[in-house]
Amino acid sequence: MRSLQWLAARLPEAHLTATIDGIGNLLGTSTTSGPKLLAGSHLESQNYAGWLDGPLGVVYALEAARVLNSDPDVKGAVEVAVWCDEEGHFGSFLGSRSYVGGVTEAEIDAARDRTSGRAMRDALREVGLAGRPRVSVERGRHIGYLEAHIEQGQMLESSGLAIGIVTSIVGIWQYRINFVGEQNHAGTTRMSLRKDAGLALARFCVAIDDRFPALAGPRTVWTTGRITLDPGAPSIIPGAAEMLFQIRDDDPTVIERLEQLLQTMADEATAQGRSSVTLERIRTGAPASMDARFQDAIEAASTAFASGRSTRMPSGAGHDAQVLASIMPAGMLFVPSIGGISHHWTENTADADIVTGAQVFVETCRRLLAG
Ligand SMILES: [Zn+2]
Repeated sequence: MRSLQWLAARLPEAHLTATIDGIGNLLGTSTTSGPKLLAGSHLESQNYAGWLDGPLGVVYALEAARVLNSDPDVKGAVEVAVWCDEEGHFGSFLGSRSYVGGVTEAEIDAARDRTSGRAMRDALREVGLAGRPRVSVERGRHIGYLEAHIEQGQMLESSGLAIGIVTSIVGIWQYRINFVGEQNHAGTTRMSLRKDAGLALARFCVAIDDRFPALAGPRTVWTTGRITLDPGAPSIIPGAAEMLFQIRDDDPTVIERLEQLLQTMADEATAQGRSSVTLERIRTGAPASMDARFQDAIEAASTAFASGRSTRMPSGAGHDAQVLASIMPAGMLFVPSIGGISHHWTENTADADIVTGAQVFVETCRRLLAG
């Protein structure tokens, strides 16, 4: 709330009126006629995280609004948005999804902080936001949405580049993979007779890493998250096991291929007779394409202010821009992350890169408003 209030106090310098709405989004709106470009990011962070993930994009948006909204040669205005809960403490992109009309009151009623268990309603009441209306997008108001963010990876730094022009934001597919064997005594059951669901799971994990590369795309990533053995006692052979598994790519056909492979592997493992393996898809997210005109504007601005040290690249991390892209043209630019580190207090970007990124961002806004 203090960061939101700080920003709300800055926005009048950019001829914007600040509203903090009933879910914790902050919108800075202009009364100027002409085209409006929405720009922003998020101010909250992961717990124990760094200083740039989110705030960098918000401060760039503030800077663009300060520079352009008082420039008599610029038609229209940059409006500033700060989305609540981008990092998913209470849900998934609750702030930006609320703005585009994708969050019901019931979803807010049910939302709880995943760390503390505190209800979102209680949190909103404690900071004085309970009962405020939520601000929704006014269709047709904006020519689009532009967001800057740290890369959170090493691509730009290792290539000596200053700007990443995001082409798409990856889709995330998540699965629960269940293994059912036979629970039995760990001392008296001979090895040849065991149906150890935990062992079947471990073999499956290794098999994924052996077989996925042949069908994956150049940027596909996959991760096994929580593994549970049931029961998880050393004196009992686990009769059941479960793993959460995630695949990310910006090409849905690659995901389809890999999902088919997972199913084949599950069938093969089941056919071997020790454990039955079933696959359950628990989350799908289509990749979001960034608008071609926005990409071109970022590239032209990079030529002017970053000596052309830019490249087009997909984003492997989720961002609010993917939500905004569902209702308006959207674009994103990245600045380098030192050592690729993010979600950690050492997260940083060289001062020179922060400045270059701001100049490219403001110039991109100027070009987009000029059409
Ligand atoms: Zn972020």
